[in-house]
Amino acid sequence: MSWEIPFNHAVEEEAARNDSHPMPEKTQRQTHAKVEVSALNFYTFTVIHRGLSPVAMPFTHRSAAADVRAMVGGNAAEPLRVAVLGSTGSIGTSTLDVIAACPGRFSPYLLAAHRSTRLLLEQAQACRPRWVVVVDPVAAAEIGVGALPEGTRLAVGPEALDDLVQSPEVDRVVSAIVGAAGLRSTWAALEAGKTVALANKETLVMAGPLAMRLAEQTGGRIVPVDSEHSAIHQALRTGTAAEVTRIVLTASGGPFRTRSRETLVDVTPEEALKHPTWSMGPKITIDSATMMNKALELIEARWLFGLPAAKLAVLVHPQSIVHSMVEFVDGSVIAQLSPPDMRLPIQYALSHPERFDGPTRRFDFTQAMTLDFAPPDPDRFPAVRLGHEAAARGGTAGAVLNAANEEAVRGFLEGAIRFTDIAEVCARVLDEHPFQPEPSLDDVRRLDAWARQEVVKWACV
Ligand code: NAD
Ligand code: MG
Repeated sequence: MSWEIPFNHAVEEEAARNDSHPMPEKTQRQTHAKVEVSALNFYTFTVIHRGLSPVAMPFTHRSAAADVRAMVGGNAAEPLRVAVLGSTGSIGTSTLDVIAACPGRFSPYLLAAHRSTRLLLEQAQACRPRWVVVVDPVAAAEIGVGALPEGTRLAVGPEALDDLVQSPEVDRVVSAIVGAAGLRSTWAALEAGKTVALANKETLVMAGPLAMRLAEQTGGRIVPVDSEHSAIHQALRTGTAAEVTRIVLTASGGPFRTRSRETLVDVTPEEALKHPTWSMGPKITIDSATMMNKALELIEARWLFGLPAAKLAVLVHPQSIVHSMVEFVDGSVIAQLSPPDMRLPIQYALSHPERFDGPTRRFDFTQAMTLDFAPPDPDRFPAVRLGHEAAARGGTAGAVLNAANEEAVRGFLEGAIRFTDIAEVCARVLDEHPFQPEPSLDDVRRLDAWARQEVVKWACV
């Protein structure tokens, strides 16, 4: 059986969801049990055959999708209820743009943020979700009576967020909390068998094998939001797993792509926060400048697509138009191109397996366009090598690299360490950590804390 089979993913999703928790009464009444069961069996078979289980399979057929959706419930007209975790961030606000631009397709069910309550309340007034979650109780306490629109309720704290994410009323979870803090709610969503539009790459960097196994057990799905992984997900629709020889992740090269090694020592946070092609949150913008973002993405791809690290490569492409490529055994390279706009991969992750019109900018092919590619320079950007190493080692390497980097970026933004120290301290902590090949989630958390302390100690010396 090959990937070209026009199997419908909507059926898989309905089947997996029904299996893991009760559906809303209306949908239950409409659902046809026989279709669900045969779909689930088919899914299980294809999963084993492809060995790529919890990634929502890229291989679908649009018209078949619509047909089978109608068979399982005739609810194609009902908007999917979306939980947006990290709604006040760069990905979160772009997600709300997509939802607003696709009327009738999605409805915001829950918006969650850490402590940026002013923007969160503005968002709640604009889109009237059922729930607003503020993770920081101090920030939540400042919310005045009557600040929420009618029909919207407030919940506080990370436990409340985990519970609400698992609600049967949530159809899609957008995981867009930044950093290691995003792991627990993504975990909760997968535990409940949800389909997760995953921006929080840290979940897979820290606990890739554990999260993929959890999704396999619960029927949860991950559709990537990261533009590179979205491109790969799309390119994989053209071949089988056995036919893939290499995945090439493109990288903009960041603001210091052409700067000399000597001058990188003097880079300031202000300079590093100016990205040439993407507008993103501060943490990932610094990661793009050091190219640690590509290191994290190598690890993310390793677990998401179940490919050995040796099949993953990085190519610098300053225009950020080719978002990544897949090379097949016959030498064909399939790439996905679009203007640099995160709303497209977000919409793809929300709408998969369907495609429809959305807010994303289009190319103007009447204008000349140049695409450049070059290998990354390992001397100026040593972080990329750390990504290859951590992807190859697996185990606790990803969690330690991620935690050391988060702490080092914080130190750099606060003026405690230099730009070039970031990769240096990460390399040292990665080398010195007590490696475990098959960690539990507790091991991951313990080593995350250990790595942060090591960076703080190093910065204080
Ligand atoms: P951001 O800093 O702009 O926003 C972060 C969001 O997370 C905010 O809503 C904030 O309130 C929330 N948050 C922070 N700490 C939290 C906590 N402890 N509990 C609950 N919520 C918390 O970040 P971003 O750029 O939107 O990135 C979000 C994630 O998406 C990151 O994992 C990043 O790597 C990934 N990503 C971002 C982009 C991009 O273009 N911005 C692209 C690819 C992947
Ligand atoms: Mg990316």
